[in-house]
Amino acid sequence: MNRLQAHPTATVPVTHASGRYDIHIGVGLCRALGHHLHQTFGDAPRSVAIVTNPKVARHYAAATTASLEAAGFAVQLCVIPDGERFKHLRTVERIWDFCLAQRLERRDVLVALGGGVVGDLVGFAAATYLRGVAFVQVPTTLLAMIDSSVGGKTGFNWREGKNLIGAFHQPALVVADLETLQTLPRREWHAGWHEAIKYGVIRDADLFARLEARLPLSLRRDAPWDWLGEVIADCCRIKADIVARDERETGERKILNFGHTIGHALEAVTKYRRFRHGEAVGLGMIAACQIAAELGWMAAAEAERVQALVRRVGRMPATSGIAVDAVLAALAYDKKVVGGQARFILPSRIGVVQETSAPTPALIRRTLQRLLS
Ligand code: NAD
Ligand code: MG
Repeated sequence: MNRLQAHPTATVPVTHASGRYDIHIGVGLCRALGHHLHQTFGDAPRSVAIVTNPKVARHYAAATTASLEAAGFAVQLCVIPDGERFKHLRTVERIWDFCLAQRLERRDVLVALGGGVVGDLVGFAAATYLRGVAFVQVPTTLLAMIDSSVGGKTGFNWREGKNLIGAFHQPALVVADLETLQTLPRREWHAGWHEAIKYGVIRDADLFARLEARLPLSLRRDAPWDWLGEVIADCCRIKADIVARDERETGERKILNFGHTIGHALEAVTKYRRFRHGEAVGLGMIAACQIAAELGWMAAAEAERVQALVRRVGRMPATSGIAVDAVLAALAYDKKVVGGQARFILPSRIGVVQETSAPTPALIRRTLQRLLS
């Protein structure tokens, strides 16, 4: 692939309360990162700190650094440890310390090169360093491309649970290089497809049908670029549209949590070790559709279509040994609990969902017994 081909195949604009930014999606965009930063920030001389982890750095630090330097930026590389278990305040402190040691100023830029963990940490560090500097998301997982890099939620985990401390801080630019997906481990790849299915169910029956028709092709590691770019752009458009109207999740943004009520509870009771987030969401979507069908909200055949597509993504980690009571207890801690009642996002048909606390404890228990048997 030569440099000339490194242009976006799709650009999705995102508007928010204090401005707008672009999501560029295409092949080889890491090698054009300097160009895109220059477009966004102009040629005021700036320092750029790339924050990444060792795994991602091995593959992509050299190309991104070279591209930024060629565009005239002074570049520093900050490598933080890999993994959800490092998504805590100490790692944020490391990023702050790095920025101070490099004397980064308010006009300088942080680049988050990696998956959702790097993106959430760097976004928070950027929101708080010198009371806020610009940051750019360069997502390198499918999940980060279609979900975590868009929408401005940043933060880290605390003793009591995931993402409990954070800030809303929108990126100035998102650059999704499809080429980076080629080195993604298989499980991460599959986990991302569950979140793609989520977008179809909550908002876009046509996207759902295309995913249904092309799932085997999608799961292949040599899936065609144009198809990947199309799906990622569609998912980003849906998220951008929702976030533009409800940046702070006071209403509509909650529908992005379809599959997440039970999904989060499953992750919590297994101490975030057994499931990738997307896998837990897949199981949560299966449960939500069964509940919606039992309530008579969704036709059984529609609910079955969603469940079948989720299952086709691939084998899930075993659910054996997970106690129904433990999951029910975890549901009570969900951020979406209002007045002690777990709230669900349930479909009435593929493409349409709403928030409800209609499922009774007995119905939730029955559904979990089936799911975990
Ligand atoms: P991750 O960031 O842990 O990445 C998964 C693994 O893949 C890591 O080991 C990572 O080093 C590796 N990796 C990343 N890119 C790679 C590549 N191109 N090639 C090879 N390996 C690569 O996980 P994730 O699924 O990207 O993100 C999950 C995180 O995102 C969670 O912490 C979650 O809370 C957060 N999240 C945030 C939002 C939001 O709106 N801010 C939304 C969804 C999820
Ligand atoms: Mg999610």
